Order: sequence, then C-alpha cells, then structure tokens
Amino acid sequence: MTRSLPRRALLGAGVLGLAMPGLALAERPARGARTAPRPGPDPRPVVVLDPGHGGRDPGAIGVSGTQEKRIVLAAAQELKGRLEAGGACRVVLTRTRDVFVPLEGRVAFARRQNAVLFLSIHADSAPGARGASVYTLSDRASDALSAALARRENAADAAGGLRLPPVPPDVQRILLSLVRQETRVGSERLADLAVDALRSRVALLPNTHRQAAFAVLKAPDIPSMLVELGFLSDRGDEAALRRPDHRAKLVGALAGAVERFLARPGIA
Ligand SMILES: [Zn+2]
Repeated sequence: MTRSLPRRALLGAGVLGLAMPGLALAERPARGARTAPRPGPDPRPVVVLDPGHGGRDPGAIGVSGTQEKRIVLAAAQELKGRLEAGGACRVVLTRTRDVFVPLEGRVAFARRQNAVLFLSIHADSAPGARGASVYTLSDRASDALSAALARRENAADAAGGLRLPPVPPDVQRILLSLVRQETRVGSERLADLAVDALRSRVALLPNTHRQAAFAVLKAPDIPSMLVELGFLSDRGDEAALRRPDHRAKLVGALAGAVERFLARPGIA
C-alpha cells in the first residue's frame, strides 16, 4: 500500500529544489498485521482516538480504586459519539474493549487508517497534580528520532513506520525533517485549540500545554496530542472523572477543538 507524501512536504521539497522522482511514502505493514479495509466512498478525514492502557495494563489507579483504562475508554467512546454526531470526520479507536495494545501498535494503527489526527487519552497519576492538560512531542525527542534515523540502516523503523523514497540518506533526512516539522506545527495547533476549549469548561493543570517524549506521539506525519483528562491521584479529579456529566464537558471541549482543526485543513 502506498500513499502520497503529504502535499505540504512536497511543497517543502520543491522549495529546496529537490528532484524527487517517484516521491511516495510506502506504508510498512507491521509483521502479521491485518491490512485495513480499503477506503470506501466516505471522503471524510479519519480521526484516531487512543484510549490509553488496557488489558493487563490498568494505567493509573485512583485513590478510590478507579482504573485509568476504564475511564479513558469511556471518554474515548463518548468523544467518538460526539464527533460522529457532528459529521465532520470518521472516528476509529485503537481499542474498543479492555485489551492491551503496545504503544508502537497504536501509532501503526493510526497510519494504517490514514489518520489525519491522533489523540491519545489518559488520566494518569502525579503527586499534587490536578486538572486537565495536553501534551505534544518535545523537540528533544524529535531530535533523538532524527539521530536514530542517521544511525540506523533501517530508516523505516526509525521513522516510525515511514518508508522513505530511495534517495541518499541526506535527502531522506531532509524529507523526514520537513514532514516532521509540519506535523509538529499541526500538533501544537491542535493542543492550543484544545486548551482554549477546555479552559472555559473544566479546571486545568497550570502550564496546561506541556511537551514530553511520549512514544505514542512519535508518528512523524500525523499531528498527535495526548490529553490527560485529569489525575486519578487527586481525589476530586477521580470523583469528577467517574461522572458522565464531567466527562461530557471534557469531551465537548475536545470535540470542538478537533472540529476547528479539521475546518481549516490548509493550516497545518
Ligand atoms: Zn495513562
């Protein structure tokens, strides 16, 4: 299965005057992975929601025993319903039940779905932390990914599943850098929209938009964000996250952010 390099990256390559015959990124199917169904006539963009943890990995355990994996699955299903009701996108979940999914499998799933957005949903534990917060991949992690590409012969793995065109390694690094830069801009924009939407609805963690090296955010070509709905280590957050009415506020804000992002696809 092949798909075109994002238009934004083609434009970037053109600016640099690179002659790139056969420029395409080939999806690298995970070993043993089933191929996603061929896209049907539905032209709407696909948003992948990623409820964290699952199965043998419960995630954080709240002070009253609430399991993160259950809260985030409920929230993801509620967000899917909200987005589908809006009609602007199709929504698929990396898990729809209580099963363990490896981190790299979540990113690979998003690529197989040709996702335009990847939103990982968590409700973790941290001393003294409370309120909602959003995370994008840190520059430091991005640099490490570039370094890994330079070191490793198997560029496809280092690039998070992208197979770059058969061009010299230096050109591959430029291409990957272009794609990743555009993706970073998109991720930051989504995070800003999410913070704006959440601010009027729920309590926020100070410095609400943070950056970290979450492995699940490392798809180089899909704008990605991780949201902590709250912290189960906080008694108040835990109680709130168990309530559908509180989750509805969070879900409404996130749905609004996703829809605003999709409404202006030309703005990465
Ligand atoms: Zn988590």
